[in-house]
Amino acid sequence: MSTAEIRRRFTAHFAENTEIGEHTVVPSASLLLDDPNLLFVNAGMVPFKPYFLGQATPPYQRATSVQKCIRTPDIEEVGKTTRHGTFFEMCGNFSFGDYFKEGAITLAWELVTKSVADGGFGFDESVLYPSVLNGDEEAVALWKKISGLPDDRIVRLPPSENYWSMGVPGPGGPCSEILIDRGPEFGADRDWDAGDRYLEFWNLVFMQDNVVAARSKYDVDIDGPLAQTGIDTGLGLERVAYLMQGKSNMYETDVVFPVIEKAMELTGKKYGASYEDDVRFRVVADHVRSSLMLISDGVTPGNEGRGYVLRRLMRRAIRNMRLLGYEDPAMPELLPVSRDKMGETYTELLSGWDRIKRVADSEEEAFRKTLAAGTQIFDLAATEVKSSGSTTFTGAKAFQLHDTYGFPIDLTLEMAAEAGLEVDEAGFRGLMTEQRERAKADARAKKGQHADLSVYRGILDANGPTDWQAYTTLETESK
Ligand code: ATP
Ligand code: MG
Ligand code: MG
Ligand code: MG
Repeated sequence: MSTAEIRRRFTAHFAENTEIGEHTVVPSASLLLDDPNLLFVNAGMVPFKPYFLGQATPPYQRATSVQKCIRTPDIEEVGKTTRHGTFFEMCGNFSFGDYFKEGAITLAWELVTKSVADGGFGFDESVLYPSVLNGDEEAVALWKKISGLPDDRIVRLPPSENYWSMGVPGPGGPCSEILIDRGPEFGADRDWDAGDRYLEFWNLVFMQDNVVAARSKYDVDIDGPLAQTGIDTGLGLERVAYLMQGKSNMYETDVVFPVIEKAMELTGKKYGASYEDDVRFRVVADHVRSSLMLISDGVTPGNEGRGYVLRRLMRRAIRNMRLLGYEDPAMPELLPVSRDKMGETYTELLSGWDRIKRVADSEEEAFRKTLAAGTQIFDLAATEVKSSGSTTFTGAKAFQLHDTYGFPIDLTLEMAAEAGLEVDEAGFRGLMTEQRERAKADARAKKGQHADLSVYRGILDANGPTDWQAYTTLETESK
């Protein structure tokens, strides 16, 4: 079943449900909603937050959406697990004081198990495992009643897996996930942490608690129930697509795989021949798509915040193409392939194409200059380190690459790892701090004189990679 058809079925299931109630179909919001805690929308509920927080009255009691999401904290997983993309689409249904646990479980189970001929996903019940929060016996009883599954098929998981809150005072509640057993080749029997074996593809959040203090997303103090309960669910469109298409991971679906095919054609390498290359192909396919979607929503590459996320994604895609043996500009070849697939849903990719292409091409050109200047220096330094019998790239070298050639530290870290070297990151950070102090002292000395903007430029450049870390930790809101 095509991704488009899965999307259509999900939406129809909720829009047309007459028993529990029709859901209003709400189009995806931009990835760039204003939210002080988030760089990017990272879940389907984000655009509905004001309703759940009681800050605004929803114009409907039930809604359904397919929301574009970016999760930068998942970047290191991309291509290595079968299930993590930096960009993905989350299908969701939402209840604002309307149906609660029983309705949410009924609606989800129906769609998942209804036969394909009858408009459902047709998953085989014998491989499905609902999970609940340890102690949520109400949910266990509902699952047994609605699905008819025996007790030992309902998995009890700790709060770290199945409690959700925003990490600040506000609504919170237990979650219930639907896991599918993909078989022993993906992990050990009943090892719930083997996320690629017991693949989570749908998460139902039962918002019921008034969270008054939060030490983390799941370690919270609760003061009674919420005045109004709510339902927030998220189903990974790509995860369902690869399950239904008989593929082993989310980079091989009808929407994402064409980029890998194009990359094979360009590099002359075969996907499926070596693990290292396969990871590279998958990183390329994922990052090309997320770059495309970010540029389309208005992000331009830069040295901080959202712009730095985009820059890092693009540079990783380009570098991985180089590691696969392709040295020519890659974006002009790969981006249109992703556009053609994603443009079927997001027509703004077609109408905004000229601008998207301009932004991507000029970033790649700039990066090619950086690489041309820095790579030789890097290789030379790496050879020096190795011939001296060491395995550590000094902080001073990393600093020089950054300061003189514009190599961000994460690029140095990645290249060093590929060369089998470690980097003295603490040394690097120390030098960065010294530079920052110097810049501050300079600025103080110049106070009252004419403004020298180059000082600020230096600080901005110096802060780029550090910001990435900060934003990574900021963006951990997930269920
Ligand atoms: P996982 O445990 O696999 O990392 P999660 O618990 O972080 O997933 P949720 O925050 O519950 O995910 O998001 C709801 C759904 O969105 C998940 O059940 C999954 O289907 C999908 N999803 C989450 N993260 C990603 C991702 N990085 N790429 C693709 N789909 C995702
Ligand atoms: Mg999870
Ligand atoms: Mg996750
Ligand atoms: Mg989850």
